[in-house]
Amino acid sequence: MGGPDELAQLFRGLAGRRESEAPLAPHSSFGIGGPADLLLLPPNVAALREAAALAREHGVALVVLGAGTNVLVSDAGVRGVVLSLKDGFQELGIQAGNGGGGRHAEGGAEVVVRAEAGVKQARLARFAQQHGLAGAEFMIGIPGTVGGAVRMNAGTRAACTADILLDAEVLLPDGRLATLSREEIDLSYRASALPAEAIVVAARFRLVRDDPTRIAERMAADSARRKATQPLACRSAGSFFKNPPGTSAGWLIDAAGLKESAVGDARVSRRHANFLINVGQARARDVVALMRQVQHSVACRWDVWLTPEVTMVGDEHAAHEPEEEAG
Ligand SMILES: Cc1cc2nc3c(=O)[nH]c(=O)nc-3n(C[C@H](O)[C@H](O)[C@H](O)COP(=O)(O)OP(=O)(O)OC[C@H]3O[C@@H](n4cnc5c(N)ncnc54)[C@H](O)[C@@H]3O)c2cc1C
Repeated sequence: MGGPDELAQLFRGLAGRRESEAPLAPHSSFGIGGPADLLLLPPNVAALREAAALAREHGVALVVLGAGTNVLVSDAGVRGVVLSLKDGFQELGIQAGNGGGGRHAEGGAEVVVRAEAGVKQARLARFAQQHGLAGAEFMIGIPGTVGGAVRMNAGTRAACTADILLDAEVLLPDGRLATLSREEIDLSYRASALPAEAIVVAARFRLVRDDPTRIAERMAADSARRKATQPLACRSAGSFFKNPPGTSAGWLIDAAGLKESAVGDARVSRRHANFLINVGQARARDVVALMRQVQHSVACRWDVWLTPEVTMVGDEHAAHEPEEEAG
Protein backbone atom coordinates (compact mmCIF):
# COMPACT_ATOMS: atom_id res chain seq x y z
CA MET A 1 0.00 0.00 0.00
CA GLY A 2 1.07 3.55 -0.82
CA GLY A 3 4.38 5.29 -1.36
CA PRO A 4 6.67 7.09 1.09
CA ASP A 5 4.28 10.02 1.70
CA GLU A 6 1.26 7.83 2.43
CA LEU A 7 3.32 5.60 4.70
CA ALA A 8 4.71 8.60 6.59
CA GLN A 9 1.12 9.77 7.08
CA LEU A 10 -0.11 6.34 8.19
CA PHE A 11 2.65 5.82 10.77
CA ARG A 12 2.86 9.45 11.92
CA GLY A 13 1.40 8.89 15.39
CA LEU A 14 3.94 6.29 16.47
CA ALA A 15 6.57 6.85 19.14
CA GLY A 16 10.19 6.84 17.97
CA ARG A 17 12.31 8.18 15.16
CA ARG A 18 11.25 7.77 11.56
CA GLU A 19 12.69 8.73 8.20
CA SER A 20 11.04 8.74 4.78
CA GLU A 21 12.98 7.49 1.76
CA ALA A 22 15.81 6.59 4.11
CA PRO A 23 19.01 5.34 2.43
CA LEU A 24 19.78 1.88 3.81
CA ALA A 25 23.48 1.76 2.88
CA PRO A 26 24.44 3.37 6.22
CA HIS A 27 22.42 0.64 7.98
CA SER A 28 24.33 -2.20 6.33
CA SER A 29 27.93 -3.30 6.97
CA PHE A 30 28.32 -3.73 3.19
CA GLY A 31 27.55 -0.01 2.79
CA ILE A 32 25.17 -0.92 -0.03
CA GLY A 33 21.45 -0.44 -0.59
CA GLY A 34 18.77 1.90 -1.89
CA PRO A 35 16.15 3.66 0.23
CA ALA A 36 13.38 2.28 2.41
CA ASP A 37 10.03 3.95 1.79
CA LEU A 38 9.88 4.44 5.54
CA LEU A 39 12.42 3.60 8.24
CA LEU A 40 10.99 3.29 11.75
CA LEU A 41 13.02 3.00 14.94
CA PRO A 42 10.54 1.99 17.65
CA PRO A 43 11.96 2.61 21.13
CA ASN A 44 10.06 -0.16 22.92
CA VAL A 45 7.80 -3.19 22.53
CA ALA A 46 4.60 -1.13 22.70
CA ALA A 47 5.68 1.03 19.74
CA LEU A 48 6.89 -2.04 17.85
CA ARG A 49 3.55 -3.82 18.34
CA GLU A 50 1.66 -0.74 17.23
CA ALA A 51 3.79 -0.45 14.07
CA ALA A 52 3.34 -4.14 13.27
CA ALA A 53 -0.45 -3.93 13.85
CA LEU A 54 -0.79 -0.93 11.52
CA ALA A 55 1.30 -2.68 8.87
CA ARG A 56 -0.86 -5.81 9.14
CA GLU A 57 -4.11 -3.86 8.97
CA HIS A 58 -3.04 -1.90 5.87
CA GLY A 59 -1.13 -4.66 4.08
CA VAL A 60 2.24 -2.90 4.37
CA ALA A 61 5.32 -5.10 3.97
CA LEU A 62 7.68 -5.08 6.98
CA VAL A 63 11.38 -5.88 7.07
CA VAL A 64 13.31 -5.93 10.35
CA LEU A 65 16.99 -5.06 10.53
CA GLY A 66 19.39 -5.59 13.39
CA ALA A 67 22.90 -4.25 12.86
CA GLY A 68 22.65 -5.01 9.12
CA THR A 69 25.76 -7.19 9.17
CA ASN A 70 24.33 -10.16 7.30
CA VAL A 71 22.23 -8.50 4.62
CA LEU A 72 22.61 -7.39 1.03
CA VAL A 73 20.06 -4.63 0.45
CA SER A 74 18.99 -4.24 -3.18
CA ASP A 75 19.89 -1.12 -5.14
CA ALA A 76 16.17 -0.36 -5.50
CA GLY A 77 15.81 -0.41 -1.73
CA VAL A 78 12.75 -1.65 0.13
CA ARG A 79 9.11 -0.88 -0.63
CA GLY A 80 7.20 -0.64 2.62
CA VAL A 81 8.55 -0.23 6.14
CA VAL A 82 11.95 -1.15 7.51
CA LEU A 83 12.06 -1.52 11.27
CA SER A 84 15.33 -1.05 13.09
CA LEU A 85 15.49 -2.00 16.76
CA LYS A 86 18.72 -0.15 17.46
CA ASP A 87 17.16 2.89 19.21
CA GLY A 88 15.78 0.73 22.00
CA PHE A 89 15.85 -2.92 22.98
CA GLN A 90 19.17 -2.50 24.82
CA GLU A 91 18.41 -4.10 28.20
CA LEU A 92 20.87 -6.76 29.29
CA GLY A 93 21.04 -8.49 32.66
CA ILE A 94 21.16 -11.60 34.74
CA GLN A 95 17.68 -13.01 35.20
CA ALA A 96 16.47 -12.61 38.79
CA GLY A 97 16.00 -15.92 40.56
CA ASN A 98 18.51 -17.64 38.29
CA GLY A 99 21.92 -17.84 39.81
CA GLY A 100 22.96 -21.39 40.26
CA GLY A 101 19.65 -23.27 40.09
CA GLY A 102 20.53 -25.71 37.31
CA ARG A 103 23.81 -27.41 36.56
CA HIS A 104 25.54 -27.64 33.23
CA ALA A 105 26.35 -31.07 31.76
CA GLU A 106 30.03 -30.45 32.62
CA GLY A 107 29.24 -29.62 36.24
CA GLY A 108 29.24 -25.78 36.48
CA ALA A 109 26.34 -23.76 37.88
CA GLU A 110 24.02 -22.35 35.23
CA VAL A 111 22.94 -18.72 35.10
CA VAL A 112 20.32 -17.24 32.79
CA VAL A 113 21.10 -13.97 31.02
CA ARG A 114 18.37 -12.00 29.24
CA ALA A 115 19.27 -9.64 26.38
CA GLU A 116 16.95 -7.47 24.34
CA ALA A 117 17.11 -7.80 20.58
CA GLY A 118 19.15 -4.65 19.90
CA VAL A 119 22.02 -5.67 22.20
CA LYS A 120 25.20 -6.31 20.22
CA GLN A 121 26.55 -9.84 20.48
CA ALA A 122 30.02 -8.54 21.46
CA ARG A 123 28.42 -6.63 24.34
CA LEU A 124 26.69 -9.79 25.53
CA ALA A 125 30.01 -11.68 25.34
CA ARG A 126 31.84 -8.99 27.35
CA PHE A 127 29.03 -8.78 29.93
CA ALA A 128 29.15 -12.54 30.40
CA GLN A 129 32.94 -12.54 30.80
CA GLN A 130 32.79 -9.74 33.38
CA HIS A 131 30.29 -11.81 35.39
CA GLY A 132 32.35 -14.99 35.11
CA LEU A 133 29.87 -16.66 32.77
CA ALA A 134 31.07 -18.90 29.96
CA GLY A 135 29.30 -19.90 26.75
CA ALA A 136 28.97 -16.59 24.86
CA GLU A 137 32.68 -16.22 24.00
CA PHE A 138 32.05 -17.10 20.35
CA MET A 139 29.95 -13.90 20.02
CA ILE A 140 32.89 -11.55 20.72
CA GLY A 141 33.78 -11.11 17.06
CA ILE A 142 30.30 -11.26 15.53
CA PRO A 143 29.18 -7.68 14.80
CA GLY A 144 25.41 -8.34 14.79
CA THR A 145 22.66 -8.03 17.39
CA VAL A 146 20.95 -10.61 19.57
CA GLY A 147 17.89 -10.49 17.27
CA GLY A 148 20.09 -11.33 14.28
CA ALA A 149 21.85 -14.06 16.26
CA VAL A 150 18.57 -15.83 16.99
CA ARG A 151 17.26 -15.45 13.44
CA MET A 152 20.54 -16.63 11.84
CA ASN A 153 21.82 -18.99 14.54
CA ALA A 154 25.01 -16.97 14.50
CA GLY A 155 28.11 -18.89 15.42
CA THR A 156 31.64 -19.98 14.72
CA ARG A 157 33.32 -23.35 14.38
CA ALA A 158 33.58 -23.40 18.21
CA ALA A 159 29.91 -22.80 19.10
CA CYS A 160 26.67 -21.24 17.95
CA THR A 161 23.58 -19.51 19.33
CA ALA A 162 21.66 -22.79 19.52
CA ASP A 163 24.20 -24.06 22.10
CA ILE A 164 23.24 -21.39 24.66
CA LEU A 165 19.75 -20.20 23.72
CA LEU A 166 17.06 -20.97 26.29
CA ASP A 167 14.13 -19.18 24.66
CA ALA A 168 13.15 -15.97 22.86
CA GLU A 169 10.33 -13.44 23.16
CA VAL A 170 8.92 -13.08 19.68
CA LEU A 171 6.30 -10.81 18.11
CA LEU A 172 4.46 -13.19 15.81
CA PRO A 173 2.97 -12.18 12.44
CA ASP A 174 -0.55 -12.36 13.95
CA GLY A 175 0.38 -9.76 16.61
CA ARG A 176 0.81 -12.14 19.57
CA LEU A 177 3.86 -11.76 21.76
CA ALA A 178 5.00 -15.29 22.60
CA THR A 179 7.92 -16.94 24.34
CA LEU A 180 9.27 -19.64 22.05
CA SER A 181 11.60 -22.33 23.32
CA ARG A 182 14.85 -23.15 21.54
CA GLU A 183 13.17 -26.31 20.22
CA GLU A 184 10.27 -24.31 18.75
CA ILE A 185 12.68 -21.88 17.07
CA ASP A 186 14.45 -24.95 15.66
CA LEU A 187 17.87 -23.49 14.92
CA SER A 188 20.01 -25.11 12.26
CA TYR A 189 23.18 -24.11 10.40
CA ARG A 190 22.84 -20.29 10.03
CA ALA A 191 19.05 -20.57 9.96
CA SER A 192 15.97 -20.82 12.16
CA ALA A 193 12.38 -21.90 11.68
CA LEU A 194 11.02 -18.52 12.80
CA PRO A 195 8.25 -17.32 10.46
CA ALA A 196 9.61 -14.75 7.98
CA GLU A 197 7.75 -11.82 9.59
CA ALA A 198 8.36 -12.81 13.23
CA ILE A 199 10.35 -10.25 15.22
CA VAL A 200 12.64 -11.28 18.05
CA VAL A 201 12.23 -8.84 20.93
CA ALA A 202 14.53 -10.46 23.49
CA ALA A 203 16.25 -13.76 24.18
CA ARG A 204 17.44 -15.70 27.21
CA PHE A 205 20.73 -17.57 27.25
CA ARG A 206 21.90 -20.31 29.56
CA LEU A 207 25.51 -19.67 30.58
CA VAL A 208 27.74 -21.48 33.02
CA ARG A 209 30.02 -20.19 35.78
CA ASP A 210 33.72 -20.18 34.92
CA ASP A 211 36.91 -18.29 35.67
CA PRO A 212 36.73 -14.79 34.05
CA THR A 213 40.43 -14.97 33.13
CA ARG A 214 39.98 -18.20 31.20
CA ILE A 215 36.89 -16.79 29.48
CA ALA A 216 38.85 -13.64 28.52
CA GLU A 217 41.66 -15.80 27.13
CA ARG A 218 39.25 -17.70 24.89
CA MET A 219 37.76 -14.42 23.64
CA ALA A 220 41.24 -13.01 22.94
CA ALA A 221 42.16 -16.15 20.98
CA ASP A 222 39.00 -15.78 18.86
CA SER A 223 39.74 -12.09 18.18
CA ALA A 224 43.36 -12.86 17.24
CA ARG A 225 42.26 -15.61 14.84
CA ARG A 226 39.81 -13.23 13.14
CA LYS A 227 42.36 -10.44 12.90
CA ALA A 228 44.83 -12.80 11.24
CA THR A 229 42.39 -14.38 8.78
CA GLN A 230 39.53 -11.94 8.02
CA PRO A 231 39.46 -8.58 6.18
CA LEU A 232 37.99 -6.78 9.18
CA ALA A 233 38.78 -3.29 7.89
CA CYS A 234 36.74 -3.88 4.70
CA ARG A 235 33.02 -3.47 4.20
CA SER A 236 31.41 -6.90 3.97
CA ALA A 237 28.70 -9.07 5.47
CA GLY A 238 31.15 -11.62 6.89
CA SER A 239 31.24 -15.04 5.26
CA PHE A 240 29.15 -14.72 2.13
CA PHE A 241 28.43 -18.41 1.48
CA LYS A 242 27.52 -21.24 3.82
CA ASN A 243 30.13 -23.95 4.21
CA PRO A 244 29.02 -27.05 2.29
CA PRO A 245 28.98 -30.25 4.39
CA GLY A 246 32.51 -31.45 5.15
CA THR A 247 34.38 -28.57 3.52
CA SER A 248 34.84 -24.82 3.65
CA ALA A 249 33.45 -22.37 1.10
CA GLY A 250 36.57 -20.21 1.48
CA TRP A 251 38.87 -23.11 0.61
CA LEU A 252 36.78 -24.05 -2.48
CA ILE A 253 36.77 -20.44 -3.73
CA ASP A 254 40.50 -19.99 -3.09
CA ALA A 255 41.42 -23.30 -4.75
CA ALA A 256 39.32 -22.34 -7.79
CA GLY A 257 41.65 -19.35 -8.19
CA LEU A 258 39.00 -16.74 -7.47
CA LYS A 259 40.71 -14.54 -4.88
CA GLU A 260 40.56 -10.90 -5.99
CA SER A 261 38.02 -11.62 -8.76
CA ALA A 262 35.87 -8.52 -9.07
CA VAL A 263 32.71 -7.06 -10.59
CA GLY A 264 32.76 -3.27 -10.32
CA ASP A 265 33.80 -2.46 -6.76
CA ALA A 266 32.69 -5.86 -5.41
CA ARG A 267 35.69 -8.13 -4.88
CA VAL A 268 36.61 -11.52 -3.48
CA SER A 269 38.88 -10.74 -0.53
CA ARG A 270 42.53 -11.71 -0.83
CA ARG A 271 42.70 -12.38 2.90
CA HIS A 272 39.63 -14.65 3.13
CA ALA A 273 38.06 -15.96 -0.07
CA ASN A 274 34.60 -16.36 1.49
CA PHE A 275 34.39 -12.62 2.14
CA LEU A 276 32.97 -10.56 -0.73
CA ILE A 277 33.99 -6.99 -0.01
CA ASN A 278 32.89 -3.55 -1.16
CA VAL A 279 36.10 -1.72 -2.04
CA GLY A 280 34.43 1.52 -3.11
CA GLN A 281 31.02 2.19 -4.60
CA ALA A 282 29.85 -1.40 -5.18
CA ARG A 283 26.16 -1.86 -5.91
CA ALA A 284 24.04 -4.82 -4.89
CA ARG A 285 23.94 -5.91 -8.53
CA ASP A 286 27.76 -6.03 -8.61
CA VAL A 287 27.80 -8.25 -5.53
CA VAL A 288 25.10 -10.48 -7.01
CA ALA A 289 27.01 -10.76 -10.33
CA LEU A 290 30.19 -11.65 -8.43
CA MET A 291 28.25 -14.14 -6.33
CA ARG A 292 27.07 -15.83 -9.54
CA GLN A 293 30.58 -15.92 -11.01
CA VAL A 294 31.87 -17.57 -7.85
CA GLN A 295 28.98 -20.07 -7.74
CA HIS A 296 29.49 -21.09 -11.38
CA SER A 297 33.29 -21.31 -11.17
CA VAL A 298 33.16 -23.38 -7.98
CA ALA A 299 30.48 -25.63 -9.48
CA CYS A 300 32.59 -26.18 -12.63
CA ARG A 301 35.74 -26.89 -10.65
CA TRP A 302 34.34 -28.84 -7.67
CA ASP A 303 30.78 -29.81 -8.59
CA VAL A 304 29.50 -28.03 -5.46
CA TRP A 305 26.85 -25.29 -5.54
CA LEU A 306 27.50 -22.63 -2.89
CA THR A 307 24.45 -21.12 -1.24
CA PRO A 308 24.59 -17.62 0.26
CA GLU A 309 24.54 -17.17 4.00
CA VAL A 310 23.81 -13.48 3.50
CA THR A 311 20.11 -12.52 3.45
CA MET A 312 18.90 -10.67 0.35
CA VAL A 313 16.69 -7.76 1.40
CA GLY A 314 14.49 -5.62 -0.83
CA ASP A 315 13.30 -5.90 -4.36
CA GLU A 316 14.16 -9.55 -5.16
CA HIS A 317 14.06 -8.97 -8.88
CA ALA A 318 16.49 -6.06 -8.88
CA ALA A 319 18.83 -7.92 -6.55
CA HIS A 320 18.90 -11.07 -8.62
CA GLU A 321 18.55 -10.08 -12.25
CA PRO A 322 21.82 -9.55 -14.12
CA GLU A 323 22.24 -6.03 -15.47
CA GLU A 324 20.62 -5.66 -18.89
CA GLU A 325 22.99 -5.69 -21.85
CA ALA A 326 23.35 -2.23 -23.37
CA GLY A 327 21.93 -1.83 -26.87
C1 LIG B 1 33.16 -8.87 9.77
C2 LIG B 1 31.98 -9.81 9.97
C3 LIG B 1 32.19 -11.01 10.63
C4 LIG B 1 31.11 -11.89 10.82
N1 LIG B 1 31.34 -13.07 11.48
C5 LIG B 1 30.30 -13.92 11.68
C6 LIG B 1 30.50 -15.16 12.36
O1 LIG B 1 31.60 -15.50 12.79
N2 LIG B 1 29.43 -15.97 12.52
C7 LIG B 1 28.19 -15.63 12.07
O2 LIG B 1 27.24 -16.40 12.27
N3 LIG B 1 27.97 -14.47 11.42
C8 LIG B 1 28.98 -13.60 11.22
N4 LIG B 1 28.76 -12.43 10.56
C9 LIG B 1 27.40 -12.13 10.03
C10 LIG B 1 26.47 -11.40 11.01
O3 LIG B 1 27.20 -10.57 11.90
C11 LIG B 1 25.62 -12.37 11.83
O4 LIG B 1 24.82 -13.20 11.01
C12 LIG B 1 24.67 -11.62 12.79
O5 LIG B 1 24.06 -12.53 13.65
C13 LIG B 1 23.58 -10.82 12.06
O6 LIG B 1 22.99 -9.97 13.01
P1 LIG B 1 22.41 -8.55 12.58
O7 LIG B 1 21.82 -7.92 13.79
O8 LIG B 1 23.45 -7.75 11.89
O9 LIG B 1 21.29 -9.00 11.57
P2 LIG B 1 20.90 -8.27 10.20
O10 LIG B 1 22.04 -8.39 9.25
O11 LIG B 1 20.36 -6.92 10.47
O12 LIG B 1 19.73 -9.24 9.72
C14 LIG B 1 20.01 -10.56 9.33
C15 LIG B 1 18.68 -11.30 9.23
O13 LIG B 1 18.11 -11.39 10.53
C16 LIG B 1 16.84 -10.76 10.56
N5 LIG B 1 16.72 -10.08 11.85
C17 LIG B 1 17.53 -9.14 12.39
N6 LIG B 1 17.07 -8.76 13.59
C18 LIG B 1 15.94 -9.47 13.81
C19 LIG B 1 14.97 -9.51 14.86
N7 LIG B 1 15.08 -8.73 15.96
N8 LIG B 1 13.94 -10.36 14.74
C20 LIG B 1 13.79 -11.16 13.64
N9 LIG B 1 14.65 -11.15 12.62
C21 LIG B 1 15.72 -10.32 12.70
C22 LIG B 1 16.83 -9.80 9.39
O14 LIG B 1 15.51 -9.56 8.93
C23 LIG B 1 17.65 -10.58 8.37
O15 LIG B 1 16.84 -11.56 7.75
C24 LIG B 1 29.81 -11.54 10.35
C25 LIG B 1 29.62 -10.32 9.70
C26 LIG B 1 30.69 -9.46 9.51
C27 LIG B 1 30.45 -8.14 8.81
